[in-house]
Amino acid sequence: MSSSLVSSAPTIAPPPLPSNPITASPTARTKRLSKASRAPNARPLEPNVIEVGFGNLLVRPWYPSFYPEELVGRSVDRLYVCQWCFKYSKVLMPFLGHLKVCECMANPPGEKVYEQGGYSLWEVDGEECKLYAQNLSLFAKLFLDTKSVFYDVTTFLYYVLVAHDPSPSITLPEGLQHTTVPPATTQEDGAPPAPSTSASAPPRPPHQVVGFFSKEKMSWDNNNLACILVFPPWQKQGLGQILMGASYEMSKREGRLGGPEKPLSELGRRAYVHYWSQTLARAILAAPAKSRLTVAALRDETFIVAEDIIATLQAMDVLEHRSRGGADALINKARVREWVERYGVDLRCPVDPEGFLKEYGDEDDDDEGGSEEDEEDQGEE
Ligand SMILES: [Zn+2]
Repeated sequence: MSSSLVSSAPTIAPPPLPSNPITASPTARTKRLSKASRAPNARPLEPNVIEVGFGNLLVRPWYPSFYPEELVGRSVDRLYVCQWCFKYSKVLMPFLGHLKVCECMANPPGEKVYEQGGYSLWEVDGEECKLYAQNLSLFAKLFLDTKSVFYDVTTFLYYVLVAHDPSPSITLPEGLQHTTVPPATTQEDGAPPAPSTSASAPPRPPHQVVGFFSKEKMSWDNNNLACILVFPPWQKQGLGQILMGASYEMSKREGRLGGPEKPLSELGRRAYVHYWSQTLARAILAAPAKSRLTVAALRDETFIVAEDIIATLQAMDVLEHRSRGGADALINKARVREWVERYGVDLRCPVDPEGFLKEYGDEDDDDEGGSEEDEEDQGEE
């Protein structure tokens, strides 16, 4: 009962600080923790949680997390994590009791900033909701390798993606008796464990948190995203694209040009290449026939930084190289069209700008507005 979720508040001790006190800059902090998660064998450590009861799903973690040893031990066979507030327990009964009274059952803490198509996004301030942010980070770390969990959650905002009609359906765990154990996930392809659904049909929960991204409140590198994760049972549904699309749409509204914190993990890189390619193809094909397509114009339209635009267009193989005064590459629109057809790319925007509920500063509402940025012009057309 040491890890009881329902004992008097605060119900869960905050996670302990890692052995290295974290005082360095965000970048150094990331490096330090990623290194720590790999030491001493220079390869990923085995997860210290063998399986997680999350809603009525059992999910197999991919990586170790920093759950406090005095609460969960060195390794725990099964940890129950609340699907609404991410509090955890290795003891089932108090966990079930908690689910009946969880204060996040109706919605996550914080402010709803976006809603569209059965999904909503909630902005959670790590300073105001410290325990929530820490517990979310601990859970996320089970599925993240290179990206660190930030113990200093107070300097971050968390954008939590909620599915209002989640698939797979998550049912209130009545003793978790309906749950079946999904096969272990292979880390190779990142395939989600097969979700288990209940044979009977208990009432649906009000919502399901399916992923999130975090963002530094003050990023020296203008990063618009620090860490992104769609929880394994909901991966491969395009939800990462919603999170990335939202992060860029917010940048646009704030007038802050940026991108994700780098280096990206392999999974993260693939997801971003997908997002950048699709977004650029949409912008290029929507441009009027005679318009001059420059990297700067694409940047102003998409808020993707020039470096990522150029690398993406090169990878798509849609640039034509020419030696001409000042301009050495042109975007070949026909090749972009071919690229879209060849890969059957869905050009619809993953987020609907109309779905944003929060004002993020209104200086950049006009898409075609001239850029006030004075970044280098790449001399590309
Ligand atoms: Zn809860």
